[in-house]
Amino acid sequence: DSLMVSAGEEVLRRIGEAGYVAYWVGGCVRDEVMGRPVHDMDIATSARPERVTQLFERCIPTGLQHGTVTVLIQKQAFEVTTFRKETEYEDHRRPASVEFVDAVLEDLKRRDFTMNAMAMDLEGKLIDPFHGREDIKAGVIRCVGKADERFEEDALRMLRAIRFASVFGFTPILSTWRAIIRNRDKMRYIALERIRAEFEKILYGPDPQRGLELLRRSRLLEYSKLPIKAAQVHSELLECLHLLPAEPVELRLSLLVQGLGIESQSILGLLKQWTFSNRDSEQAAAIARFDQELMEHLHTLSSVPDEERENLIRPYWISLQLAFGKYTAGLWISRMRILIKSSKTVNGASLLSAELLDLLEVWYASIPVHQVRELVVKGNEVLEKAGRPGGPWLGVLMKQLLYAVASGAIPNNKEALLNEVKRMVKSIES
Ligand code: ATP
Ligand code: MG
Repeated sequence: DSLMVSAGEEVLRRIGEAGYVAYWVGGCVRDEVMGRPVHDMDIATSARPERVTQLFERCIPTGLQHGTVTVLIQKQAFEVTTFRKETEYEDHRRPASVEFVDAVLEDLKRRDFTMNAMAMDLEGKLIDPFHGREDIKAGVIRCVGKADERFEEDALRMLRAIRFASVFGFTPILSTWRAIIRNRDKMRYIALERIRAEFEKILYGPDPQRGLELLRRSRLLEYSKLPIKAAQVHSELLECLHLLPAEPVELRLSLLVQGLGIESQSILGLLKQWTFSNRDSEQAAAIARFDQELMEHLHTLSSVPDEERENLIRPYWISLQLAFGKYTAGLWISRMRILIKSSKTVNGASLLSAELLDLLEVWYASIPVHQVRELVVKGNEVLEKAGRPGGPWLGVLMKQLLYAVASGAIPNNKEALLNEVKRMVKSIES
């Protein structure tokens, strides 16, 4: 953060020394005014893109048609955008300072909300024509200009209003909220990718529940291209999202789709359609599948006495841990507790008693290895012992070894492991 700020100051300073004006604009000014950490800095300047490129050693022409150059400096990246009016001003004879105040106003006028429509110069002087600072103090989200017009121009702004409300705990002013309701059908024009990017910030933010509640009331998602019904956005599971940490993201993502009541075999397709990354989609789908499997398994055990039930759950629990070795038991337990709370939604969850959850925690602690690389025998030794050419079988066999050790069937020592390899290879070959 402080590295970024000092690199950003260097960008403003260099542009200033070359005789141009430059400001921080948008989200970074808002974050600075709010006293929040700044995570990306946008800069607006009177210097043309070609000139910006000359002033810095490393630049990427990100969006030359919009006058945007990405400046790389001190391992940080900054989007530097030339004032739109710059060309018009070129031959004017008005004093430069007046021209550029106009140009900054012009830039700020095109931004979405008053809190995002402020600029700041190197000395820290704030340019705040729409009183964004007051709105921040009051905790309100207000469109720059007429809300209906601004939402008509770009319907995504409605979702951004809800995103900022959710992340900052703010409230849209009544006229902005009413305009959202009036214009919500325009959500259908918005690419799913842009919707997903804003939605992710709600989902992984500090108060996803608030965002989902506003989404439910506004029905914005229902009017988008997403195949989601407003009624779906209201479930007990979704009210527990904030109980899970924001990272790794697939934990909340899988709870989201489970909460929306999506069948586990449809989850992967839905998330990919929604343009979530392949990695996030696959992880979330895998978690949901495992949950379902575990719950179904528990359900079939309902007639089995308690002690035996534990024995039958343990293998599942261990394979779950091995499949998702990077999550701690605590994370899984909190997921389980959430699923129990909403046992209506997930069959069999009610069988997970509090004692059983405690037991799962104990089991977790007793698992000696979680990953193949923790085995004392390596792949090449297994190959040698097996005396057959490498292939996909090797990975499968290593996983079986891992399971054997994790479940306590064999100890993690060379002799035992290599004996097991011999036995397994025999059974592959027969
Ligand atoms: P974050 O903290 O998540 O980066 P942000 O406000 O910086 O939030 P960005 O998407 O990075 O959001 O956009 C930077 C700035 O660009 C915004 O603060 C706003 O001034 C402007 N902006 C972004 N999207 C829009 C939009 N759809 N309409 C108008 N202005 C926008
Ligand atoms: Mg930003």
